[in-house]
Amino acid sequence: MNANSADKAAPEKSSPKQSTRKGSAKTPDWHRQIDDEGILWLILDQQNTSTNVLSVTVLEQLDSLLDDVAQNLPKALVFRSGKAKGFIAGADVNEFLQVTNTQEALIMIKRGQTLFSRIAALPCPTVAMIEGFCMGGGTELALACDYRVALDDNGTRIGLPEVKLGIHPAYGGLVRATSMINPLKSLELMLTGRALSARAAQAIGLVDAAQPERQMERAVRQIALTRPPQQQMPLFGKLLSLPGIRSLLAEYMKKQVAKKAARQHYPAPYAILDVWANYYGNPARMMEEEANSVARLIQGDKVRNLVRVFFLQTRLKSLGDKKAFVPQHVHVIGAGTMGGDIAAWCALRGFTVTLQDREAKFLTNAFKRAHQLFAKRLKTTHERNAAVDRLIPDIDGAGVEKADVIIEAIFEDVDAKHAIYRDVEARMKPDAVLATNTSSIPLETLTTVLKQPERLVGIHFFNPVAMMPLVEVVVSKTTSAKTLQQATAFTQHIGKLPLPVKSSPGFLVNRILMPYLVEAFTLYAEGIAPEAIDKAATDFGMPMGPVELADTVGLDICLSVAQNLSAAYGIEVPAGINRFVEKKHLGKKSGRGFYQYQKGKPVKDKDVDLGDQRMIQNRLVMRFVNEAADCLQEGIVEDRDLLDAGIIFGTGFAPFRGGPMNYSLDQGVESMVALMTEYETRFGERFKPSAGWSLLDAKEPV
Ligand code: NAD
Repeated sequence: MNANSADKAAPEKSSPKQSTRKGSAKTPDWHRQIDDEGILWLILDQQNTSTNVLSVTVLEQLDSLLDDVAQNLPKALVFRSGKAKGFIAGADVNEFLQVTNTQEALIMIKRGQTLFSRIAALPCPTVAMIEGFCMGGGTELALACDYRVALDDNGTRIGLPEVKLGIHPAYGGLVRATSMINPLKSLELMLTGRALSARAAQAIGLVDAAQPERQMERAVRQIALTRPPQQQMPLFGKLLSLPGIRSLLAEYMKKQVAKKAARQHYPAPYAILDVWANYYGNPARMMEEEANSVARLIQGDKVRNLVRVFFLQTRLKSLGDKKAFVPQHVHVIGAGTMGGDIAAWCALRGFTVTLQDREAKFLTNAFKRAHQLFAKRLKTTHERNAAVDRLIPDIDGAGVEKADVIIEAIFEDVDAKHAIYRDVEARMKPDAVLATNTSSIPLETLTTVLKQPERLVGIHFFNPVAMMPLVEVVVSKTTSAKTLQQATAFTQHIGKLPLPVKSSPGFLVNRILMPYLVEAFTLYAEGIAPEAIDKAATDFGMPMGPVELADTVGLDICLSVAQNLSAAYGIEVPAGINRFVEKKHLGKKSGRGFYQYQKGKPVKDKDVDLGDQRMIQNRLVMRFVNEAADCLQEGIVEDRDLLDAGIIFGTGFAPFRGGPMNYSLDQGVESMVALMTEYETRFGERFKPSAGWSLLDAKEPV
């Protein structure tokens, strides 16, 4: 293809019609256009998918397009997406999972590095025009260009989130990001995997300009044709990158990382810091080590499991049809711990929310917390004021008649909930959803007063609402498919992950957590220090030990849930926990529980006897996974992947282990069952292997 001989064409986004035009040409995924000013536009519009990813085929096509570019140099080269939304979402995750050894990984990585280095070495100016999502490999491609211009709108997000999959940028992104952006910012971007808006990306020097839609093409053209100075590392960044300071900074950052992620579980952030600290200043060598480092990280189960978590999340995000149900107004009844925070969350997410309680005085705290949430999450005064305006106090419950979703979150009392439903059912819109946030009352008990029981569904939020990504969508025998669809769509609209579960005591998450917490109480009753119990769990990869978790949730709440579940499942709750509650040692909220609390932090004794850590860990984990197998057997969720997803996003279960079922399969079900049988003899019937294990004899990919 000869760029110079081609007719001039406007650089519009690709479409089948345009691809036949003279002056434009199309490989299967890339559309090539040369415009009147001699700018070559390479437009990625990957076939058969709504999102562009850098698959091997896409990269191969780009490679041959670059041969042509090198031979017929255009005035400038612009990369753009042909999709309605999104630039490039990253590399093709499925492809890198197929890599079986370090050698194969290196071949794949080096192919990408070489290609991006070709872009970086082109003598003509190169510009990435970023509209919408630009992640991982997409950002690395943009970094290989001389300039980056990003669309300044809500949909644009730019990031290097590889760390979330247990790796780091490998196509030269680590080298390029740290060579032009203050390392405090570039490393933070890679260590957290956080995505930035166009303006935030501009502020740190990741993009040269953030432009509104109407200016985008003009800005790109101007940069491409005038070649302004390229992004340079600021002086402070240069200082931080000096050898001595660099090692100190890397060590400091490793300590910060260690507070959140242990090296043995999450080596990727440490690897980022090692590559930067050891090889910065020698780009060729650093590029090599960037590749070696990812080739090493990719081996083993961690990356596979983290990728699994990514797919599980994608699956949860795809449940329900958002377009089929587009609610505008949410009415929440009960402005306590949960109702107040649910209302605030919905208002934050753009809904009109009416909040009802018995008297005005019960609303005060909820509004105070809502203001705090808006202040924390919304940037501008305008946005905050708008959110405040959307949250409306409604003592008379007038919102019931206008609402599309009604969420009942009053205290756990059947008669009180029945009274609410009688009133609400008579007044609510015919198509509105009636939801309860109950934690423990069977939906079948709640529907007895309803004329249309098919309209009630559980939408079970977790505490704290703003922090917990998962919501259980609880279905009773009478809940209709339409109500389930609507409830699922609603949870998507408010940015939570829906997990459909069968109505049964504790649903999924609380039910599985409880035996694990109770085992921790039992260990404590046997004289084992809380610190030793928590260490065994965090060493396994739990974000917080069970004792600290119980203190954080509140020992009164734990006791009440444990008692509820003990009736249903025969879980024996050690007497000791009662005594804490009687003494009002309720945990973090009262300043004292298993631990003493200072400034909201537990005071832990570093010198305690850690006891038999293996036994402690086994006991905690066995109770957890055995209950999970029971839930699978009882069909509480549809399949084991949803079970793993629910547990990871509902409890924080060690993500790098891919969920309790995935972990059990990795360990080998037979050996898990053998260990449980041994523990049954040693510690009692509670370790009797679940019948659900027989369902887990085959391992299929997600
Ligand atoms: P809460 O005691 O903090 O709040 C309940 C609120 O309901 C109070 O403000 C009360 O005044 C109000 N209320 C009671 N009767 C009312 C009525 N007839 N009309 C209007 N308002 C009324 O309780 P909570 O912890 O927020 O729990 C609420 C629901 O959420 C319960 O069903 C509980 O099982 C469930 N839940 C709680 C948690 C948790 O961690 N607290 C977690 C998940 C689900």
